Amino acid sequence: MAFICKSPHQFLRSPLFIPSSYQGNRIHFPSIKRVQITNSFPVIKALKPDDDDNAVKKEDIVIIGAGIAGLATAVSLEKMGIKCKVLEQADSLRTGGTSLTLFKNGWSVLDAIGVGTELRSQFLEIQGMVIKSEDGKELRSFNFKDVDASQEVRAVERRILLESLANQLPQDAISFSSKLANMEKKQDGNTILKLEDGNQLSAKVVIACDGIRSPVAKWMGFPDAKYVGYCAFRGLGVFPNGQPFQQRVNYIYGKGIRAGFVPVSSTKVYWFICYNSSSPGPKITDPAVLRQQTKELVRDWPSDLLNIIDATPDDTIIKTPLVDRWLWPVVTPPASNGNVVLVGDAWHPMTPNLGQGACCALEDSIVLSKKLAEALQSGTMSIEDAFKSYQDERWGRVFPLTIRANAVGTLLQLDNPLVCAARNNIVIPKLVRLGPMLEHTNFEFEPFLSK
Ligand SMILES: Cc1cc2nc3c(=O)[nH]c(=O)nc-3n(C[C@H](O)[C@H](O)[C@H](O)COP(=O)(O)OP(=O)(O)OC[C@H]3O[C@@H](n4cnc5c(N)ncnc54)[C@H](O)[C@@H]3O)c2cc1C
Repeated sequence: MAFICKSPHQFLRSPLFIPSSYQGNRIHFPSIKRVQITNSFPVIKALKPDDDDNAVKKEDIVIIGAGIAGLATAVSLEKMGIKCKVLEQADSLRTGGTSLTLFKNGWSVLDAIGVGTELRSQFLEIQGMVIKSEDGKELRSFNFKDVDASQEVRAVERRILLESLANQLPQDAISFSSKLANMEKKQDGNTILKLEDGNQLSAKVVIACDGIRSPVAKWMGFPDAKYVGYCAFRGLGVFPNGQPFQQRVNYIYGKGIRAGFVPVSSTKVYWFICYNSSSPGPKITDPAVLRQQTKELVRDWPSDLLNIIDATPDDTIIKTPLVDRWLWPVVTPPASNGNVVLVGDAWHPMTPNLGQGACCALEDSIVLSKKLAEALQSGTMSIEDAFKSYQDERWGRVFPLTIRANAVGTLLQLDNPLVCAARNNIVIPKLVRLGPMLEHTNFEFEPFLSK
């Protein structure tokens, strides 16, 4: 049954709201009753509601995943006076990883939740883009502000973005080493979250921001995200004495392979290579192998790119098979199930061809938080209806973008030499216009309700 609350205070002071007993960054549940493992999944045999209800830690709003979506949602809710608990499987914020390009839609959300200014000061504004062929010939260049004066493009380090968001939250808001293993709906509408370490929580509201392989999406009946036929290598080149590149995105298009690089700061340059591969291939963790495979792919390409790869510390080179999931009407489950809702990649994994996955996760976070706050504060709609309204508003935004990103990737990964020649000699130099390529970065939302 949906539950309606007159005010956030009533909600937060409800009998089920227990002040946090978190110590540092880890949850300690000394009283939790461990029960025998019956099979490999679920890890824990469910406690019956009247078995030992006191053994289950009770929370109002639980966010699964301290990635971009999870932290941005937690910060948005916090800004509106609504507390939540974030569970993250890792033992710290993701420190590895490379960089993400954020467009004006991402920046408008970061401004609204109070971290835009501090991030801007650390990352260069990118003025435009240049497209080259694999032999280094310039095919076309654009200046972003020539077509949209309000456009803002910066590549940000994922680690710094996550840290800035986490710094906006109370110290005990994130529980690390808290991996969700399974979940179960109770008759009273609450959800039991079963963690891999055997601990359990009961949550009134679950906001799943647990990424591409979301166990919550699986629980809700979503199929796995589908491999799209190409993989990406990424890394972050470091130039301690200053990087030499202009503030623009550099794309290099080959046949069935393309690369790009963009200055992040005065000393760092992000790069990527996308290459066709009939299967995702084995997971590679050895940095020497990753570097070697990367360099083999672009052996004869412009030296700028090779120099940046050489300047890349081992621990930032990663390989990712690219996937997406299309949210077909009727066929695909809805984004919410009662008081459980999906946000970001957990709901709509998309390929990175438009640089919109994280931007959309940020958009989701603000739309969802405002609808949830409205439900809690005005009581005019239930949480369940707030989540449905979020899905209705966001579906029309994220589904077309997922398809568009996929289509762009398919075109850019074509390997037929004749088609690639036509692309490089006719389509890019004469036909492509920048304006339509950036239209999807327009995103408006109402200002925040303050605390
Ligand atoms: C090659 C590549 C390039 C990209 N470039 C861009 C770009 O330029 N611009 C852009 O906007 N987007 C880009 N993206 C997309 C972007 O990275 C994602 O859209 C974004 O990270 C989604 O954020 P999220 O919080 O939804 O998921 P994630 O960032 O994946 O976060 C999920 C979090 O949930 C945690 N988690 C998972 N399972 C559990 C569990 N069982 N229990 C507890 N915690 C759990 C994870 O540890 C993680 O911290 C790119 C993606 C790729 C692959």
